[in-house]
Amino acid sequence: MNIHEYQGKEILRSYGVAVPNGKVAFSVEEAVQAAKELGTEICVVKAQIHAGGRGKAGGVKVAKNIEEVRTYAEEILGKTLITHQNGPDGTEVKRLLIEEGCDIQKEYYIGLVLDRATSRVVLMASEEGGTEIEEVAAATPEKIFKEVIDPVTGLMPYQARRIAFNINIPAKLVNKAVKFMMGLYTAFVEKDASIAEINPLVVTGDGNVMALDAKWNFDSNALYRHKDILDYRDLAEEDPKEIEASKYDLSYISLDGNIGCMVNGAGLAMATMDIIKHYGGDPANFLDVGGGATAEKVTEAFKIILSDQNVKGIFVNIFGGIMKCDVIATGVVEAAKQVGLSVPLVVRLEGTNVDLGKQILSESDINIVAAESMADGAQKIVELVGK
Ligand code: ADP
Ligand code: MG
Repeated sequence: MNIHEYQGKEILRSYGVAVPNGKVAFSVEEAVQAAKELGTEICVVKAQIHAGGRGKAGGVKVAKNIEEVRTYAEEILGKTLITHQNGPDGTEVKRLLIEEGCDIQKEYYIGLVLDRATSRVVLMASEEGGTEIEEVAAATPEKIFKEVIDPVTGLMPYQARRIAFNINIPAKLVNKAVKFMMGLYTAFVEKDASIAEINPLVVTGDGNVMALDAKWNFDSNALYRHKDILDYRDLAEEDPKEIEASKYDLSYISLDGNIGCMVNGAGLAMATMDIIKHYGGDPANFLDVGGGATAEKVTEAFKIILSDQNVKGIFVNIFGGIMKCDVIATGVVEAAKQVGLSVPLVVRLEGTNVDLGKQILSESDINIVAAESMADGAQKIVELVGK
């Protein structure tokens, strides 16, 4: 789960990590009021959306007085911000962060991520702050420094110091930078985060080290023990289809293609997407209905797939183990009845109660193309959608 920058900064503040003073605003009046309360000469008006690259897209503006705060708030609130991270459709800005202007001397990058190769949390840093870290990694990989963190000891102060020296934090600010990194690491671990990206971390004219941006991602499987983080959830930022799916405990991820997939088991779902790609198609989603799905759950899953305007065909690929093929068949027939089926449907069933499942499908009046195998089904749906 992602959260907004201002929420991320609240977390940082609670762990003693320095951030500028700021307030969230949901309207122009609130923005003006927030600027007055901050009382600083220069304020920054920042669009709060779950995507980076806001600065370049016009979502971060420096205001020199209250009137400019008003002008920028009017301009940004309600605007659809398109950044390189949120795709061509963009996101409507509904919240602003009004923050005190910071006298930036230099921008750095600091990030914590889970590294699959080492199965450990890795601290990454660069003196090329403000720029996308992917760009730095591509152009000047030698400017990225990493420390792999032992989960038993946690981040060691010497590691944080080594990072600070490597990225050329001014010598007299190294201790502040170390304190920053230690606080960030503690927050990351205690809150079960999977990404914490501070870009930029800045050194200021008055000798402070602080986070000017904060991007967090949290492990959804751990949210049950972090009510405070869950309270930060902003449904307006999430795909409505994914929200609907989560109500029914379905693992659903929207993708850009046009072939809707309904599969049981995450492994089979991945393999199904691969084989669709292999035959030249593009999956519209990842959907794992799970092992113990009921006909109702399958019906809802089917409806969610059909609600996607991009879907031009559906491939149901089920291996009945715990999940029984007749349950899937009943769900598919029920969903088709409820919402109508206007796109081609290819079904491949195998395993427990497969004959009963096939019988339910063939006795219904839905137009179904039966597939003999996964490869056969993938080829058929790619061909039908391609027409
Ligand atoms: P994004 O990464 O989405 O573009 P940032 O929060 O990183 O948004 O802001 C973009 C840039 O705007 C920063 O790199 C920094 O130069 C400037 N900026 C952001 N917040 C402030 C602030 N409080 N004071 C001064 N400059 C800021
Ligand atoms: Mg940033």
